[in-house]
Amino acid sequence: MKRPVLDMAECIHCEVCVELAPHAFQLNDAGFFEVMPLDDYSDEDIHEAVKNCPKDCIAWE
Ligand code: SF4
Repeated sequence: MKRPVLDMAECIHCEVCVELAPHAFQLNDAGFFEVMPLDDYSDEDIHEAVKNCPKDCIAWE
């Protein structure tokens, strides 16, 4: 099972990932975006979020 991984060094905090897939991405208390623990990352909203990140800083691992 592949899962998305964020490169925080490239993230510009635009919130696109959270808007498109709020069940998979969140802004944590430390002010960083992170991937939520899910059993399945295959749904279309998550793929759209990965594709639409303006910095291409979400990769599949
Ligand atoms: S879409 Fe990309 S650049 Fe925007 S907040 Fe999410 S990870 Fe950061």
